[in-house]
Amino acid sequence: MKNIDWSNLGFGYIQTDKRYVSDFKDGKWDDGAIIDDATVRINECAGVLQYAQTVFEGLKAYTTEDGSVVTFRPDLNAERLIQSAERLQMPTVSKEKFIDAVEQVVKANIDYVPPYGSGATLYIRPYIFGTNPVIGVKPADEYQFRVFVTPVGPYFKGGAKPITIRVCDLDRAAPHGTGHIKAGLNYAMSLFQIVDAHNKGFDENMYLDAGSRTYVEETGGANFLFVTKDNKIVTPKSDSILPSITRRSLMIVAEKYLGLEVEHRPVAFEEVKDFAECGLCGTAAVISPVGKINDHGNEICFPSGMDEMGPITKKLYDTLTGIQMGRIEAPEGWIHKIK
Ligand SMILES: *Cc1c(COP(=O)(O)O)cnc(C)c1O
Repeated sequence: MKNIDWSNLGFGYIQTDKRYVSDFKDGKWDDGAIIDDATVRINECAGVLQYAQTVFEGLKAYTTEDGSVVTFRPDLNAERLIQSAERLQMPTVSKEKFIDAVEQVVKANIDYVPPYGSGATLYIRPYIFGTNPVIGVKPADEYQFRVFVTPVGPYFKGGAKPITIRVCDLDRAAPHGTGHIKAGLNYAMSLFQIVDAHNKGFDENMYLDAGSRTYVEETGGANFLFVTKDNKIVTPKSDSILPSITRRSLMIVAEKYLGLEVEHRPVAFEEVKDFAECGLCGTAAVISPVGKINDHGNEICFPSGMDEMGPITKKLYDTLTGIQMGRIEAPEGWIHKIK
């Protein structure tokens, strides 16, 4: 195992020894290989540089209680990468190729998988981008599918501190909330509002639907999950938000493991003040509690969860991480064993 101070890792990029690369040319993908070079060399006019043809995924490898190394529902990341690539007129990789690449790159960097109980995990970043020169507006003909890994620390150090978010104006927020895909361009277009939120003391933006400005969409990189005062789970349904695998898994955990009622439906912003707990769901944080939402000066505070996670959020967090770390039996097909 590498000599890394696992329990003091943050959420950042650490270069590891190996990465997976496969190239698409003349209408097909090559077999792919594990390589040493962390630097990508592409033409100055590459499609990704001119017209932002790049899509990505994010998942994690975990060391479980019994010492195995596993990933969590990688088939869903493969499906979503396919949807993202299709939306940007890029070639897709099959589910089999995706999972094979993930397995190869994790095995090649097995010394970087943080130990059980350290709080750290191995973050896996698969992505596809256009590589050949494109000057007229059209899709590239050649692409690269690459997967690198980087060990990351827990999102929360010393307990979960709730965050404060703000309701974001539409101006310069597009096309977040019109995306439904994990693409570099969606993130690039959200950076202005993220930086502006941070400058004004907020951790994240809450995006409302672009059409009517009355329904809750998501934040920059996570879906919302609310808990009602009578312990029902409510998550916003919308065609324009990114379908979070964590959120979909938490909905099943809530229903099947905790016996809670779950509603997946449009959520009016008007309703938000009546919820008991609010969390943000994503691979990085699992579920991170929101303490306060600022709507242009009007504050909504969530009474349970101002100082720490609310009780239902905590149960959801503990159950899902228990499943991922092998302490709680997983539903069929959720855990993909690599070693
Ligand atoms: C990745 C992402 C999420 C979280 O999805 P997970 O599959 O749970 O990691 C939510 N919203 C956006 C915009 C994202 O890019």
